[in-house]
Amino acid sequence: SKPIVAIVGRPNVGKSTLFNALAGEKISIVKDTPGVTRDRIYADVSWLDYNFTLIDTGGIEPDSSDMILKSMREQAQIAIDTADVIIFLTDVRQGLLDADAKVCDMLRRSGKPVLLVVNKVDNFDKFLMDTYEFYNLGIGDPIPVSAASKLGLGDMLDEVVKHF
Ligand code: GDP
Ligand code: MG
Repeated sequence: SKPIVAIVGRPNVGKSTLFNALAGEKISIVKDTPGVTRDRIYADVSWLDYNFTLIDTGGIEPDSSDMILKSMREQAQIAIDTADVIIFLTDVRQGLLDADAKVCDMLRRSGKPVLLVVNKVDNFDKFLMDTYEFYNLGIGDPIPVSAASKLGLGDMLDEVVKHF
């Protein structure tokens, strides 16, 4: 069956925007237990000769800050259990936060391929230097993208399919 790619990251980093940019129209929503933050959204995505299933793990996200880390751990666990490649999405505008580092540790320990993707790099001249702090996560080169402006997505997908 097709490889599975999961997007994991803090609320508001742009997971759904990235998902929609890659998915186009082919979206299906899968609901698990009502009221639980495990609802997932799936899409079939093609890149070059590859077809894969993309999952947005942040179906329902909490508003309260004390619930955010719990929700992120659940997302990360879904990704670790089901994905062949994990897109760990961060936000250059907010920078590297403690919650990013905690979830990144969890993903790294899983041994799954994890791509460190830094979103909201809408202007490479202006924001590329700001992505350097993400090297501190120790999981490799940050891949700059702008999900909203659809910049860098091809280079990101090239890295994704290398792991299939
Ligand atoms: P999620 O909570 O991780 O799913 O994030 P969303 O996709 O809902 O996006 C959160 C906010 O970030 C929204 O206001 C988006 O419009 C904005 N956003 C997403 N991607 C980008 C981007 O590439 N650049 C900028 N400037 N804003 C973005
Ligand atoms: Mg979302």
